[in-house]
Amino acid sequence: MNLIFLGPPGAGKGTQAKVLEQRFGYRQVSTGDILRANVREGTPLGVEAKGYMDSGKLVPDELIIRMMEPVLDAAGDVILDGFPRTTTQAEALDELLRRKRKSAAAVLFAVDPSVLTERLTGRWTHAASGRTYHVRHNPPKLPGIDDQTGEPLIQRPDDKEETIRTRLAEYDALTAPLIAYYDDPADPRLVSVDALAPIDDVTAQLTKLVSGNVSRNGAA
Ligand code: ADP
Ligand code: AMP
Repeated sequence: MNLIFLGPPGAGKGTQAKVLEQRFGYRQVSTGDILRANVREGTPLGVEAKGYMDSGKLVPDELIIRMMEPVLDAAGDVILDGFPRTTTQAEALDELLRRKRKSAAAVLFAVDPSVLTERLTGRWTHAASGRTYHVRHNPPKLPGIDDQTGEPLIQRPDDKEETIRTRLAEYDALTAPLIAYYDDPADPRLVSVDALAPIDDVTAQLTKLVSGNVSRNGAA
């Protein structure tokens, strides 16, 4: 079963996707990480996406959908981290899944918005892997250094307060409606975790869900 991680920036989706990769063999597909790699490499997609990302706006649907098509071709279950983010993307994903005879359940990271700015401004990222830390909630062993590679960590340019405000507004306007999309009474496929809880606690909730094999009717 493929998983769609749904929730605002800073909810903890990337953190948990990395843990589930290690524990259960999922493959994390983070659209943000793919886009940032394109920006670093200066590809045409990266050049086009950069302005939107720097300002905290969503990248246009057609670019994202084109980027995601080949991703679902690979074998094995994926965690879609940061996709879909609009109703148009969700409909395109459903069409892709239908064509490839695959299914997916959505996991909502339910969190009080008041914690998000602190989580994002305190986030440190290992650019090459997308691994993240937090100055207070999940510090690296050595400040500013990735535990696994010893390489320096960065603060993402869009993790500053002004851009965070735009990103959260984009989430409320364009992504939050997907909660109702996946919680459709006719075809419910949404489960929630309490993402306000400490990191290990959220991992325990997800482990329970995944071990019980998240089902299409939303029950764990
Ligand atoms: P997302 O991928 O949803 O944008 P991240 O997984 O990158 O969010 O988490 C954002 C920041 O908050 C990171 O610095 C991470 O270490 C921290 N974080 C993640 N989950 C929690 C949690 N449950 N409690 C406190 N901090 C968390
Ligand atoms: P993230 O790493 O998930 O926080 O995403 C960082 C930025 O990448 C977002 O603010 C958007 O500009 C862009 N982005 C990532 N995923 C998507 C998506 N599915 N649709 C549109 N834009 C996206």
